[in-house]
Amino acid sequence: MICFSKQGVKIMKVAGRKLMADDAGRKFRTLMVASAFVVASCQASLAQGDADLEAPGLAPFATPASPQPTLFQNVRIFDGRSASLSAPTNVLVRGNTIARISSGPITVEASANVRVIAANGRVLMPGLIDAHWHAFMAATPQMLLMTADTNYLQLLAARQAQATLMRGFTTIRDLGGPVFGLKRAIDEGVMTGPRIYPSGAFISQTSGHGDFRFSFEVPRVTGGPLSHSEVAGVAAIADSPDEVRLRAREQLRQGASQIKLMAGGGIASPYNPIESTQYTEPEIRAAVEAADNWGTYVTVHAYTPRAIQQAVAAGVKCIEHGQLIDEPTAKLLADNGIWWSLQPFMDDENASPLVNPVSQKKAQEVFAGTENAYRLAKKYKIKTAFGTDILFDARVASRQGAILTRMVRWYTPAEALKMATADNGELMALSGFINPYPGKLGVVEEGALADLLLVDGNPLENIKLVEDPDENFLVIMKDGTIYKDTVPK
Ligand SMILES: [Zn+2]
Repeated sequence: MICFSKQGVKIMKVAGRKLMADDAGRKFRTLMVASAFVVASCQASLAQGDADLEAPGLAPFATPASPQPTLFQNVRIFDGRSASLSAPTNVLVRGNTIARISSGPITVEASANVRVIAANGRVLMPGLIDAHWHAFMAATPQMLLMTADTNYLQLLAARQAQATLMRGFTTIRDLGGPVFGLKRAIDEGVMTGPRIYPSGAFISQTSGHGDFRFSFEVPRVTGGPLSHSEVAGVAAIADSPDEVRLRAREQLRQGASQIKLMAGGGIASPYNPIESTQYTEPEIRAAVEAADNWGTYVTVHAYTPRAIQQAVAAGVKCIEHGQLIDEPTAKLLADNGIWWSLQPFMDDENASPLVNPVSQKKAQEVFAGTENAYRLAKKYKIKTAFGTDILFDARVASRQGAILTRMVRWYTPAEALKMATADNGELMALSGFINPYPGKLGVVEEGALADLLLVDGNPLENIKLVEDPDENFLVIMKDGTIYKDTVPK
């Protein structure tokens, strides 16, 4: 099976091209040759294991060993939900989960080779979750993304993934970009980075927010060659319910944990007004049905009431952005239990850079809506997720935590941190039976996945601590493995 999905696909494509040009007899011969080759390569690699298939001749990757148990002694816990810290507590992590939390001493068998961290009353909290991230695009300039070799860009993305984890973001929901390989490499322990909930390519109509073709790349004939960003897996341009369904299923096939659709105008894209409504209800519904059959959901990029309303009518379960919302539409989200993945977009030194004056003007409209959006999210108690949506800039990406601290304009530090941990964890679970990381995320409780930060200070009193993770996050643990430990010994 693995064989066919790699070598097989490549060969069948070649065969497909030949089939169009050749007569029936030659079609048959081509197919036979292709099939024989596929079978032969399958047989060769079946004996060698999955890793060898990725790098023939090399030793398979070492499977990440089950991490050594860790005992945090004397921590005060922010559990992801409460507004206050626990009394001094001990926490035992075994494998990739939190095995025990106890105010009394935890004893472990001498043979267990436990790593003991004497925390001295410091704060243990869940790893942070960014519900709107682009691992492929966060730190790389837009023009480079549109012109450079994709393999080079993947290496930059891998380096940024490591930086993301070292900022204390142990999970990200990726809202568009070719990150299936990166996710796999991280999960296999080949690279270091956060858990990734991938959407794969975002799906956009022609001229929509995901249509990043150059102006000379139209008209495109239906079924004609794909544009650069489509080949790279950044975008999938689809018009009509059938095309949307096909592209959605392709993302699911590659391992998307949710589907992302562009349902309205955007800032960084040049060919659509911010006021535009994108797709029709039947087109969005086609993606919703494909996702729903796979146990998961569709989330849409949308700013305006009209775009949001159409998406809700089509059955989406989450709205990205929404800064230009009005009161009746906010009420609609609340009444239908729709998630609102909202970002504190502001015009300060941590705004993503925009070169194009049209984009700059659109950004100003959106910045102006941020205040009202949070006011309505609070007023109607809408399920709100925290995300940053940083694009195209390594310096701004390095300020991911600082963007979380903006939230204290509307929320207490505890509320803001709850959103970036327990609440976002709940949103991750919306991926249902295809959730790539089943288990509880964003909380410190027995049985939850062990993604933990040890903070030198109390973030519920001083949320600014998350702005400087190098200094203030002394331990960063993901899936029970410690990636950083600078606790003074
Ligand atoms: Zn985005």
